[in-house]
Parts: sequence; C-alpha cells; structure tokens
Amino acid sequence: LEAQLLQTEKHAVIGKLAAGLSHDIKNPLTAISAYAFTVKKRGEKLKDKTLINLGEKIENNSRRAEDIINKLLNYAKPSYYKEKKVDLREVLNTSIDFSIPASKRKNIKINKRLEKGVFVYGDPGSLQQVFINLIINAAEAMNYSGNIWISLRKNGNRAVIKIRDSGEGIPDSIKDEIFDPFFTTKEKGTGLGLSVVKRIVNDHRGEIDFESKEGEGTEFIIKLPLAEDE
Ligand code: ADP
Ligand code: MG
Repeated sequence: LEAQLLQTEKHAVIGKLAAGLSHDIKNPLTAISAYAFTVKKRGEKLKDKTLINLGEKIENNSRRAEDIINKLLNYAKPSYYKEKKVDLREVLNTSIDFSIPASKRKNIKINKRLEKGVFVYGDPGSLQQVFINLIINAAEAMNYSGNIWISLRKNGNRAVIKIRDSGEGIPDSIKDEIFDPFFTTKEKGTGLGLSVVKRIVNDHRGEIDFESKEGEGTEFIIKLPLAEDE
C-alpha cells in the first residue's frame, strides 16, 4: 500500500514538473518560430534559397518540439475529468479497510459515522488516495493508542468529510506550510501526502481545511460539491 501511495505521489510530482517545464519551454519555442519565420521572409526578399531553406527547417523542427511538449502536457493533465458518480461512503469504507492493519498495530481505534447516499462526481481511486493519506497521517500523529473519527454527511449542496485524530496536533508555527510539497516533520516522510491531497480535492472543485491544537489532535475537513440528482 505504501508503495502504491508513493507511486501516486511520484506521478503527481512528475505531472507538476512536466506541466511547469512544458510551460517554460513553450515561450522560447514560440520565439524561435517567430525568428525562423523572419529568416524565411528575409530569404524570400533576397531570393536566397539557402536562407529560405534554413528558415523552413528551423520552423518545422520547432513545430515538432511543440507537438512533443503538447503531448507531455496532455499526459500531465489529471484524468479526473472522465467523471463518474462516486458513492463516498463506499470509498471511505474501502479507505478505512486499507488503513486498519497499520492502525491495529498501533492500537488505534477507527470510529466511523458515514451517512448513506452521499454522491459526488469524480475519480474514486484519487478520492481514495485522499482519504488514505489523511488517515495514515492521523495514525502517524500518534505514538501509541488513540482514536480516529471519520464522518460523512451532507450539508446543503455539499458532502462534508471529517477526519479527526487524538494525535500530537500541528504546531501553529508550521500551519502555513503543511500543504507545501516536500514539507515534512517526519524522519522518513516525503512531504508529498498533503500536497497531493490538496491537488485532488481542488481538481474535484472541493475545499480542504483543518483545525488543530498541539497535544490534543487535528481535524481535516473536506467539502465536495454533491452530484446532482438526475
Ligand atoms: P508526510 O506525511 O510525508 O510528512 P504530508 O504532506 O502528508 O507529508 O504531511 C506534512 C506534514 O504535516 C507532516 O510531516 C506533519 O508534520 C503534518 N501533519 C499532517 N497531518 C497531520 C496530523 N493529522 N497530525 C499532526 N501533524 C500532521
Ligand atoms: Mg503523509
């Protein structure tokens, strides 16, 4: 499971890097195309076949590079847009099942209160990654024994998911940083969990928030737009 999570996180980071890089490469490429066009025009004016030929070669090759970049950008795009109607109770139950062995080892009790019939549009696999990441973080916030409370309910036109723990809490001094990629306070942490969580929640047009008190615990709250009844 951890390997699978890491894979998703890596994929997300590669996607982000690819998107950023592609964007940065596109600007100089546009400039190269424009200069190549100028070279070609100058060649036409001077009736210089070599110059025309060179201009065309530069143009064609920069177009090829642009095609490659566009393909990379497409690959980096999340695929959540192939949306499905997702039963959040089901996804949460599966996420909890995945997390139970790790929690049991630490003597952590998972308490759940999940309303039926709460549906959103999105990608069940990605939403599962969100919940597993949050549950694992909750479990990792406890040295030994404790509680995790997980709830799902509807509020107006939104689904509200809460994941609360009785762990060590998040100090005020790092509250602004926890969603940053690579931010971690753990010896073997990747610091990617919450940045991936946030990205997936945003891609589902949702919101994520948290409240935490040092020494008492933490609660993450996710709000997602409900799927409309047809
Ligand atoms: P990682 O778990 O690899 O450290 P995350 O992005 O999942 O990376 O979390 C970033 C940091 O946020 C953690 O290192 C920890 O300091 C803090 N954090 C996240 N969830 C909790 C939680 N439930 N309780 C206490 N601290 C948390
Ligand atoms: Mg984590």
